[in-house]
Amino acid sequence: MIDARTTSAAETKALAAALAELARPGDLLLLAGDLGAGKTAFTQGYGAALDIDDLITSPTFTLVNCYEGRLELNHLDVYRLEALAEVADLGLYEMLDDGGVTVIEWGDTVAPALPADYLEIRFTFGDDDDERLLELIPVGPRWSARTRAVAAAVAPWIHEPEAPQC
Ligand code: ADP
Ligand code: MG
Repeated sequence: MIDARTTSAAETKALAAALAELARPGDLLLLAGDLGAGKTAFTQGYGAALDIDDLITSPTFTLVNCYEGRLELNHLDVYRLEALAEVADLGLYEMLDDGGVTVIEWGDTVAPALPADYLEIRFTFGDDDDERLLELIPVGPRWSARTRAVAAAVAPWIHEPEAPQC
């Protein structure tokens, strides 16, 4: 697990852009965290680094938006999904096969329905308004093999949480 910290939306976008340099066709990223934690901001930075010119907006009501860039970006928000089976209905498995990169907001709720090969990023709020803590968790062989590359990409934002004081 890699711990990172950002202190503005722009920093979260920059971190995402650094990670996008590692993007490979078929990659899956799961973004977990409460509303306002920065999942969509992350996706915007990630998409910009994939040369996507369109404005990336939250797909909360459309469930999935697809963008053309250096790689195609499939952006899902599955907050409203009630059943894991709906993930299959969205054509997620086909998306993962079609050579694009897929980013799912609220991904931890659907993790059991997904292939066990993804980068999970857990967003939490820090002490200050604009502070966010990001835990990056490589899952499966595809991402375990890239753990060092992920750590190197986010090196400017790496932050070891303080041990609790007794
Ligand atoms: P989510 O998709 O998780 O609901 P959004 O990305 O839509 O969250 O919203 C995050 C909000 O928090 C934005 O208004 C953004 O400007 C603000 N913000 C403040 N600090 C940060 C930060 N460090 N990282 C990301 N967003 C931040
Ligand atoms: Mg969002």
